[in-house]
Amino acid sequence: MAKSVKLIFLGPPGAGKGTQASLLAELHKIPHISTGEILRAAIKNKTSLGVKAQGFVDRGELVPDNLILDLIRERLQQPDVSNGWILDGFPRNVAQAEFLEKLLSELDQDCDHALNLEVDDSVLIQRLLGRGRKDDNKSTITRRLDVYREQTAPVIEFYKQRELLVSVNGDQALDDVTSDLQSKISV
Ligand code: AMP
Repeated sequence: MAKSVKLIFLGPPGAGKGTQASLLAELHKIPHISTGEILRAAIKNKTSLGVKAQGFVDRGELVPDNLILDLIRERLQQPDVSNGWILDGFPRNVAQAEFLEKLLSELDQDCDHALNLEVDDSVLIQRLLGRGRKDDNKSTITRRLDVYREQTAPVIEFYKQRELLVSVNGDQALDDVTSDLQSKISV
């Protein structure tokens, strides 16, 4: 059986996490778990999670941890994760990173790498404005970048301390980012 691959994608909104996570998930035949996607589907289907999450997502704020943590706990116990997984958009703050560390040790799993896609703000803003998602308007984008700097950027240091951090230049052609990521995760 192929070696299992467990990856966490870090990086600001618009860095290309979703695109790269989905490509790598396909290459390694493992699930791509995007909390943003899960929340957007819940909002679309007006589930109780969706109703609670909607205001936060629309404003570019993080959804409260209590709405996300149980969801991750359940997702990482589904049968399809036995060969690995890619987390995209989680953890989004240090409390979530601490929760995940504890959860993985309970489940006897290890994360292999935290992949940090680095892209300058000016490029991010242009990319997000061109994407056309409901939360990709100017004021929400500004808020999401602030929230990233305040709450999510410290997660980079968390994984650096655990020697799991791998940084890649996200401001390159899509295929070059993928091959950089592939070369770093295969070591
Ligand atoms: P994303 O698709 O990862 O950019 O996420 C879109 C939005 O979903 C974010 O702006 C947050 O409102 C919410 N969200 C996604 N993941 C999380 C998370 N791990 N914790 C809290 N909120 C999240």
